[in-house]
Amino acid sequence: MKEGIHPEYKNATINCACGSVVQTRSTVGTIHVDICSSCHPFYTGKQKLVDAAGRVEKFRKKYGLKN
Ligand SMILES: [Zn+2]
Repeated sequence: MKEGIHPEYKNATINCACGSVVQTRSTVGTIHVDICSSCHPFYTGKQKLVDAAGRVEKFRKKYGLKN
């Protein structure tokens, strides 16, 4: 393996807008992201569940269905 042609991987920190910090290794020192696995609705499930409930409610009203 040749020396000097490989990027140096160092400890990096990923800072999310939600305040979550993830330690990783990268060629860049610090990364800023707007969304991460801690705050994304897909992982938290909160926002998705609320939205899904609203759609079910609309569907039931539209077709006059009862539980
Ligand atoms: Zn986040």
